Amino acid sequence: MRYISTRGQAPALSFEDVVLTGMASDGGLYVPEQIPQLSHDDLAAMAGLSYAEIAFRVMKPFVNGEIDDETFRGLVHDAYATFSHEAVVPLNQLDANHFLLELFHGPTLAFKDVALQLLGRLLDHFLKKRGERAVIMGATSGDTGSAAIEGCRHCDNLDIFILHPHNRVSEVQRRQMTSVLADNVFNIAIEGNFDDAQAMVKASFADQSFLNGTRLVAVNSINWARIMAQIVYYVASAVALGAPHRQVSFCVPSANFGNVFAGYMASRMGLPVKQFVIATNANDILHRTLAANDFSKQELKATLAPSMDIVVSSNFERLLFEAYGRDGQAVSELLERFQAEPTALAEAPLAALRELFASHSVDDATILEVIREAHHRTKELLDPHTATGYRAAERARTDASTPMITLATAHPAKFAEAVVKAGFPGVPLPPHMDDLLEREERFSVLPAELDKVQQYVADRRR
Ligand SMILES: *Cc1c(COP(=O)(O)O)cnc(C)c1O
Repeated sequence: MRYISTRGQAPALSFEDVVLTGMASDGGLYVPEQIPQLSHDDLAAMAGLSYAEIAFRVMKPFVNGEIDDETFRGLVHDAYATFSHEAVVPLNQLDANHFLLELFHGPTLAFKDVALQLLGRLLDHFLKKRGERAVIMGATSGDTGSAAIEGCRHCDNLDIFILHPHNRVSEVQRRQMTSVLADNVFNIAIEGNFDDAQAMVKASFADQSFLNGTRLVAVNSINWARIMAQIVYYVASAVALGAPHRQVSFCVPSANFGNVFAGYMASRMGLPVKQFVIATNANDILHRTLAANDFSKQELKATLAPSMDIVVSSNFERLLFEAYGRDGQAVSELLERFQAEPTALAEAPLAALRELFASHSVDDATILEVIREAHHRTKELLDPHTATGYRAAERARTDASTPMITLATAHPAKFAEAVVKAGFPGVPLPPHMDDLLEREERFSVLPAELDKVQQYVADRRR
């Protein structure tokens, strides 16, 4: 198994290289050259297995023998032992035939832990094998930074530097990053906004000379291993509800499209999925594209579901590659047009996408209404991201007799602001985190100047 670029020009890579590489050199994203298949019997045999064992079986073909089975099993087992629920990602039935898949029992209370707990361990494994060290740099407005820090804090061969905009992330999100006191974790509060932080990270990837040859690694969702790890919970939850003997549908609160693309991969591997519903907040490029063939950028809107605030959905490119029959040239041309001006998908690929995908966009007022309504009916407190999914699933599902699984992407305590706005007194942190607001913090405040930030990174990496 090798990995190829969605733009068709970059060299094909092994699994190891694709984990250590971010974007392809032609500007595309890596995808597997063939999609491995799970037969009816493979799926049936997963009934009753632990999450870690299902994860091992689903991901093994992607790893392609580049890590021996026993070692890979160990990495997977360790990654999911950090979750506080025995089932790792439990299903919670809300209504007749509507389930929540709780993806928020990891160390930072959002679904990004599922991928980043494994990615940190995979990176460390390959770096140790090569006798190399690497530096991770990332900019965050919240969820990704803390999940990446938790995923890397125990990695001997990695140093991680996460930039966040000073005084512009919530206290819970900041403390989830800055209270990790490991020697290889560096939090930088930038005197500027998220875009300033992001621009400095991008510039550092573009010219890495300040690191004198040390590898710089990206952990954003363009990394294939993150998608791979997310395929697992689609398979595990569907099997728990009766796959392969019956179909299920999924609804996914979406932004960069990494999560729902993983679900699409699960279906291409043979999981019987009736429908994917894409939920967006007011940043609705995915909904506009699917519903109205309006593939265009609009200005960023700050919403109550901030982890879904995006202008461009980077992983949508991976789905376009499939919809365009894996024609890298066509994908390149479409995305070049998209960068320059509002555009549209060709008829045939759009029609193919509409067979499997539906979408729905949910504004802030509706998020608050859904949080209240869901609590009234079910006593469950939804986080604002999950609330978009809950509403979208009800509005866009085509078949009420197929079980609908809505992905609960964050714990409500992580986004208490929206929950309080909806009229609730607040949400306590789960017991293992209830001292978060008293923990010691460590971070450095730096000006939004590239040379100062790069000097800081170069001096402190080990
Ligand atoms: C990152 C995130 C999302 C969006 O996921 P994508 O993979 O970018 O589509 C949704 N909800 C929460 C809570 C997140 O942290």
